[in-house]
Amino acid sequence: MKILVINCGSSSLKYQLLDMDNEALLAKGLCERIGIDGHLKHQPQNGKPVFDEDVPMPTHTEAIAAVLDKLTSAEYGVVADMSEIGAVGHRVVHGGEKFAASVVIDDAVMAAIEECVPLAPLHNPANITGINACKQVFGSVPQVAVFDTAFHQTMPGKAFMYAIPYEYYTDLKVRRYGFHGTSHRYVSGQAAKLMEKPIEELKLISCHMGNGSSICAIDGGKCVDTSMGFTPIAGLPMGTRCGDIDVSIPDYLCQNTGKDVTTITNELNKKSGVLGVSGVSSDFRDLTKAAEEGNQRAALARDMFAYSVAKTVGAYAAAMNGVDGIIFTAGVGENDAEMRADICQYLTYLGAELCPGCNAKRGGDRFISKQDSKVKLMVIPTNEELVIARDTKALVEK
Ligand code: ADP
Repeated sequence: MKILVINCGSSSLKYQLLDMDNEALLAKGLCERIGIDGHLKHQPQNGKPVFDEDVPMPTHTEAIAAVLDKLTSAEYGVVADMSEIGAVGHRVVHGGEKFAASVVIDDAVMAAIEECVPLAPLHNPANITGINACKQVFGSVPQVAVFDTAFHQTMPGKAFMYAIPYEYYTDLKVRRYGFHGTSHRYVSGQAAKLMEKPIEELKLISCHMGNGSSICAIDGGKCVDTSMGFTPIAGLPMGTRCGDIDVSIPDYLCQNTGKDVTTITNELNKKSGVLGVSGVSSDFRDLTKAAEEGNQRAALARDMFAYSVAKTVGAYAAAMNGVDGIIFTAGVGENDAEMRADICQYLTYLGAELCPGCNAKRGGDRFISKQDSKVKLMVIPTNEELVIARDTKALVEK
């Protein structure tokens, strides 16, 4: 069965077409500037040329139609016609407390995703738009929703509750939800395979470090805690997000700058993190370069990130009363060996011994700890699209 995976943003749409008989990637691509003018980059994986041109996309429906056109075209295509596509899997950011697993989308599921809009006002509306656009173009082809929050629904109350008046939880659903769940689920499963142990017997800490970053404590294959919270701003300092700060700061800033709370919240989301501290960039490659050239604030931003990751790993080792393996993944986790080394300097007390030679090498799923390290250190490239396609296949075949 061939499955189209869709990750829809407010003005963008990422896609991958996978052949799930052998989990091979057939094509991938990105629509950008939807609703503005429109641009499609389509990359077939069968040797046909890349398409990289402006295409009018007044709405997501035209974007999906353009994707289908390229997937089935003689010049750029990878399938003969759209009837070969058996199902569509969608990344949906917020499933609230309603979804602890992926589901086939029907009217009731759409209503529930709609109900979660107040919890993710930037993301869920875009996901809904993507699903509706696919319904228009694909008709009755089954569609599946895979939620970023679902994996974290196993957290116990002591981990997901905030110590605020209880009514805010019961009436307004204020609690820790966590995000990047699809990634944490995938890399923890791969780590267990690499360690050749059943995941039920392992205590793992997964560090997803990209533009957005989060850490997850996974005991016996189940999430027991995670660093993002009610929204994806919480936890670690990120590319542009502040991570955990004293909650009194926004009010103090409003009073002393004359800015309103919306403006300050926007700054905490978009002008903070390593960008805010360094004044250089949200991109860790730029920070490394600037730090090497002597920029103290860029060096500080990197140090703050490494320190924050290490502190959270320590907290989760305590939460699980032990740890067997620590996983690094996503853009920074997979590629920035120096950042991994900086983090691991803090972790020797746990019995996690980095092998510098292994850490310097590139590749797929791999150990970067010394052979006799009590706690295994691993790099596992994440693959959220594959998880979405696997869930979609499993649900559609059921
Ligand atoms: P997103 O959260 O947008 O999915 P990614 O997982 O793609 O983000 O991670 C993006 C981050 O990864 C950027 O900050 C980028 O600098 C960093 N990154 C990518 N490649 C490298 C590299 N070779 N060395 C250091 N950092 C890298």
